[in-house]
Amino acid sequence: MQTLTNRSENVDRSPMTFVESLYLPAIVKGMGITLKHFFKKPATYSYPEVKRPFSPVFRGLHVLNRDEEGRERCTACGLCALACPAEAITMEAAERLPEEENLYREEKYAAKYEINMLRCIFCGMCEEACPKDAIYLSETFTPSDYARKKFIYAKEDMLIPNKNTEKEDYEKALGKDVPTTASAFFD
Ligand code: SF4
Ligand code: SF4
Repeated sequence: MQTLTNRSENVDRSPMTFVESLYLPAIVKGMGITLKHFFKKPATYSYPEVKRPFSPVFRGLHVLNRDEEGRERCTACGLCALACPAEAITMEAAERLPEEENLYREEKYAAKYEINMLRCIFCGMCEEACPKDAIYLSETFTPSDYARKKFIYAKEDMLIPNKNTEKEDYEKALGKDVPTTASAFFD
């Protein structure tokens, strides 16, 4: 009979010999297999102490970028939302006030910016579409949680720390010390 993998074997139903009925050879054989695996390189990682290296094309949690002066780059143009095949991005635009020039790079900014991570497929289209280099997908996992509403990420959850005023948090956000939760990341 032809099988899918051709690895099937017929079960040997002949009566056990005296040696087999002692089970010792089978136990020794089993111990030998266990011992052999002791000296093999483990296929698993002791996460979170040891982290698996990321692939160069890994796309993780979104980060909203700032410019050299620490101002938010996003101008709430909506192109990322338009490009998103999962319709995961929503935003509200606002006009920058004259005294807010040190906060926002463009005359318009995102007063509200949200991504629904339960919808997101981490395709990177938002990053591709952005004309302001304002959003990119980092080397950080979206942390797990029990409540669905915790997967609606607000602007504050994704905005990269200001490298001029929050140097340590900024280094973390670049992936130099990957945290296990988003709040640990951006708090
Ligand atoms: S990565 Fe893809 S699915 Fe996720 S928000 Fe960006 S465009 Fe949408
Ligand atoms: S992230 Fe980029 S594409 Fe999306 S609204 Fe902001 S500036 Fe426009």
